Amino acid sequence: VTSRLLFHSRTASALDAITPDTAASYIFHGPKGSGKRMAALDLTQRLNCEQGGGDQCHRCQQIARGNYADFIVVEPEDKTIVTIEQIRRLTAELSLSPYRAGGIRLVLIDQAETLGSEAQNALLKSLEEPPPKTRFVLLTTSLDALLITVRSRLAAIYFAPIAQSNLATWLELNYQLKPVTAEQLAGEAAGTIGMAVRLATDSAYAATQAELTNQATGLVDGTLYDRLLLARRLTEAKTPPQVILDRLQRRLATDVLSGAQREVGERRFKAVASARRLAEGGVMPRVIFDRLAVEL
Ligand SMILES: [Zn+2]
Repeated sequence: VTSRLLFHSRTASALDAITPDTAASYIFHGPKGSGKRMAALDLTQRLNCEQGGGDQCHRCQQIARGNYADFIVVEPEDKTIVTIEQIRRLTAELSLSPYRAGGIRLVLIDQAETLGSEAQNALLKSLEEPPPKTRFVLLTTSLDALLITVRSRLAAIYFAPIAQSNLATWLELNYQLKPVTAEQLAGEAAGTIGMAVRLATDSAYAATQAELTNQATGLVDGTLYDRLLLARRLTEAKTPPQVILDRLQRRLATDVLSGAQREVGERRFKAVASARRLAEGGVMPRVIFDRLAVEL
């Protein structure tokens, strides 16, 4: 439990199975904050470590700092999309050999759901015939945003939410938190390790998130107009829908159990459950929140 990273057991065994000899191209998919990028970094270190693991060697530290030449990160320009020009530059770079002989070059494409179809097609050739000693890892919250031709070239690993109690214990041990604080942060992060780490290390962020989850219950109260406005605010705040839905589900469960407005409570509970399925399927937060505002 004191490990640097914590994933759902299925996710962890899929990650552990990656070696220099396995498939060349992967897609890590799961909610925002589920630790996909941390996992890609960890994988790059593991495949290149001078000491066969751990993160204390010179090379692992270079990778962690982002100044290791054979760890290529492609992410949306101006925080919007990964452009076709970026993919062309990447392809040109990949035509050269890796800098370090004997290592594994890792290409990370973050927010792959922002790749347009032209950019995806430009990437396809590299995925079909990967350069030697090169691994691709695409990260996405939405598998559906990728073309079938691209997806069929990728081994998919799903970053499932971690059980709250496991996450709380891990936080407690790794961040020296009191059990009650760890439990609260784990609940707020709804099983996503990336978000849990941020909550544990960034108190301003934690305060903002606590406020947002309070607002989540506002999705149940007020007029339709109020609820739609709130849905828009929640989307813009970029909170993982799972976090809001988790809060809602807890509150509604209490309503149903207490017997107050039982029928309404059950109907709302179902609406939130179906929103959760949409969120797990990678549907855009805007769609999920707007739909909830109407259905609740
Ligand atoms: Zn190392």
